[in-house]
Amino acid sequence: MTLPLGNIPFLNKRIKFPVTPHIPGGLTTPEQIRQIADIADQYGGSLKIVGNAITIIGLTLADGEKAITELGCKGESFIAKTIRSVSFCPGKPACPRALQDSTPLGLELDEEFFGQELPGKLRIAVSGCPNCCAEPLVKDIGMYGTAKGYTLAVGGNSGLKAQIAKVVAEKVPSEEIASIIRCILAYYHTRGKTKERLGQTINRLGWDEFIKQTIPEKYLQTK
Ligand code: SF4
Repeated sequence: MTLPLGNIPFLNKRIKFPVTPHIPGGLTTPEQIRQIADIADQYGGSLKIVGNAITIIGLTLADGEKAITELGCKGESFIAKTIRSVSFCPGKPACPRALQDSTPLGLELDEEFFGQELPGKLRIAVSGCPNCCAEPLVKDIGMYGTAKGYTLAVGGNSGLKAQIAKVVAEKVPSEEIASIIRCILAYYHTRGKTKERLGQTINRLGWDEFIKQTIPEKYLQTK
């Protein structure tokens, strides 16, 4: 697999840069961790663990390309306007507080949406209960489990113009989440300006219209 990084002028001028293999949900194996460590050794890099990711740092652009190819996985995009790796907590049965099983849903969303190109970067998070360990309320699209399904929140981000997500739907079954996200992404894709985060697009165009366009009426918040 070839990374598109060679086309990015400022990276071409840098001597070293980080390479992050895409590990959905941070669910890995001892074998994969050994393989990443061996490849870091092979190319003279070192490792940094950040959230759900293990980054090989200190590689040249050419070695980074080779490392990702040898690992046989996708590379995380760290500057592109794409959907980033989906964050999710362990959920049922791993966590005693879980009300929904966030892991299969998180993997399903990562499989479908990771890497899609959009007007700006977009983060998705799934938590199995209102404790919100995956921080869904500071993600562009976040959700947390309740006894009756998922509560869906939209428009958050923890960047320079940080914003708390707004709850837009309640009691959503896990099987319905992906189709609602497809509607939200279609809205953002057609209306978002370049580098504008989803929440900023909705702020600019109006929340009522966004909700009308994307959220099925049966899941609207009840007062
Ligand atoms: S969000 Fe809830 S279910 Fe998920 S890890 Fe935290 S406490 Fe457990």
